[in-house]
Formats: sequence, C-alpha cells, structure tokens
Amino acid sequence: MLQLLNIIHRPIPSEWKKSCGLAIKKSPLHGLGCFATVRLLKGSCIAEYTGERITRKEAMRRMRRSNGKRISELGAGCYIDGNVNGNQTQYINHSCDPNSDAFVMGGSLIIFALREIAPGEEITVDYLNSFEHDQSVCQCRTPSCRRRTIRHAA
Ligand SMILES: [Zn+2]
Repeated sequence: MLQLLNIIHRPIPSEWKKSCGLAIKKSPLHGLGCFATVRLLKGSCIAEYTGERITRKEAMRRMRRSNGKRISELGAGCYIDGNVNGNQTQYINHSCDPNSDAFVMGGSLIIFALREIAPGEEITVDYLNSFEHDQSVCQCRTPSCRRRTIRHAA
C-alpha cells in the first residue's frame, strides 16, 4: 500500500489519466511488473494510479482476502483498488531503492519518476505498508533492502 508524501489541491492534466509508455511484463522482482517503454525524465509524471475508490473498512477486508497488493491509500480514509478498473500502474512492484514515488493531486494518486528511467526498466515504488498482517518479504535485492515491506507511517 502506498502512502503519500505530498497533497496538491488542483486538477491533474487529462493526459495523466492515460498510461502510455508503460508495458506489463514478467518481473525479476515479483510476478508481473510495470516497465517503461520510453525514456522517462526525472520528476516527470508516469501515470495516474487508477482503480476503484473504496473505504478503509473495505480496503482492510480486501487486504485480508488477497493481501491487498494493489490497494493504495489516497488519504482521508479513501483507498484505490487498482485491481478493479485499474491501469498498468497496479503492477508496479515494491523496491527499497525505487525509481518512482507517488503524490496526490486534485484527488488523484500520481506516480512520478524519482530519477531518469530508461526504456525497458521496471517501474518501482517504495510502498509504505501499514497493514500489520502483511508478511511479504521483499525481493528487491538492493543494498538498502529492508526485507519486510511493512513500515509504519510517522
Ligand atoms: Zn527490498
């Protein structure tokens, strides 16, 4: 589950709703992953994290059922299940040394590039997982790997 760094109150540009420049492929990290098909510049918007808007209660229920791999927190008790009407961003895998991050703008969750990303590179985000029962073990193999993806928000 993502938690957010920044909240910006203005509408997002309509092209961010689309997620061109991304492809779903088998990932060396875990299952399927989301890969760049074009060069993404540092700081650029990759795509909106789309999906069904659900309550915290419903998010918790789905987390228990499916480990909630594709549920992200939008803030103010609102969650997005990328598994329902989501785009390629639902396949973004966790890394402890990610190349992307998320922020909220105009009520939308936006994934953006933390650094330049080359075509063919997998998009990764450092998920802040506040679901206590999530026992996922990280497979990112980076020097800064924390092994457990669970981490409590400040
Ligand atoms: Zn890791």
